Amino acid sequence: MIRLPPELLPLLYAVVLLAAVLVLWLAGEWRRARQRKRERRGLFPCRLCAEWIRHGGKAQLVRCKACGALNEPGRAVDL
Ligand SMILES: [Zn+2]
Repeated sequence: MIRLPPELLPLLYAVVLLAAVLVLWLAGEWRRARQRKRERRGLFPCRLCAEWIRHGGKAQLVRCKACGALNEPGRAVDL
């Protein structure tokens, strides 16, 4: 077993906490980048079931094929 001096425990706690915050922040940025990439391809998420829907044409409302909800294209919902 590794023995640590008690003075290092607060530092170790801070390092572990900051590492967890960094990982969560990077995961959030990765998820947002994927969503922006899909939106550039004409896709947007359904506001009810989060299924990705392709926006085709000039229709103001697009029906989700998975749940049937009407969605407004281009109105991003952060899920
Ligand atoms: Zn849906």
